[in-house]
Amino acid sequence: MIENGLKLNFAQVTVSIVDCPDLTQAPYYLASSGLAGDETIVEFGGPPYLLPLVQRDKVYDLHSLVRNVEGFENKEFFVCGAGAGPWPVINQNCEGIINLKADENGPINNFTHYVNVNADGTDYSIHQVEPNETRTALLGNLFLSEGKSGKVLKVSCLKRIGEENFISAMRVACTKHYGDKIVGIGGAFVMKEGKAKQHVMDDFSKIPIHTDEDVNNWLKFFNMPAPLIALGTFVTNEADLDLRLQHFHSFSKHKHGGHYHYDVTPETVEYEGYFSVGKRIVRIDRPVVTHMLGRD
Ligand code: ZN
Repeated sequence: MIENGLKLNFAQVTVSIVDCPDLTQAPYYLASSGLAGDETIVEFGGPPYLLPLVQRDKVYDLHSLVRNVEGFENKEFFVCGAGAGPWPVINQNCEGIINLKADENGPINNFTHYVNVNADGTDYSIHQVEPNETRTALLGNLFLSEGKSGKVLKVSCLKRIGEENFISAMRVACTKHYGDKIVGIGGAFVMKEGKAKQHVMDDFSKIPIHTDEDVNNWLKFFNMPAPLIALGTFVTNEADLDLRLQHFHSFSKHKHGGHYHYDVTPETVEYEGYFSVGKRIVRIDRPVVTHMLGRD
């Protein structure tokens, strides 16, 4: 079913269930080797805490956030995904690429990165957080598990022939298949060849942002070269939880990273990813008043 959805959008598609390779190794560089054990899709906060104006009190500690998820009170965990970065570190808004393995005392491996726009707005820089930095902010979509090895969904695609991006192709196929039933999937993919259009959030806007046009004028867009390692989740519908349908952020070893939109090199693009299905979805600090801005 996922395979058929991908075949509408990519010339070559392979989908299989495999034993998870060691994802701490190149080209994935995850903080944990696998995605298995108590697989959980987590969404915290939401775009209403960012727009129209930022709510600076919405800073979360990932470690305690996970500890509050039932079943994760004291076991080792691995969390990865897309969120707002730990802006207090640089006193500037930034993208977060969350990639953290922790035990009851805190981080064991912390390969979380953040990306911020440079002062003149024409470029960006990516940084790995300090080992004990577990803050995130505003909004985020996380795949949480025990980080163990186990069965995963492996997806490989070559050459894009349709309009959907790598994630939306899978998401649309799942939504068609499952209808109103909600399914959430998370993990990591590598864009191995090509370039991707990605955004990096500018510093918090001092002027209220009210329209998608305002959002797109405020975001900084860049075409970033492969290989990009993207982490995040997608769900088949918003349910009654105001869920974000898909959200992946990427990092790399060559100083590029940001929020994934789509590749701009359909002829040469190559994707490979490992994913797992969430056994449940946990919604944390859902905004009471919501809107549909800034969800692309
Ligand atoms: Zn994002």
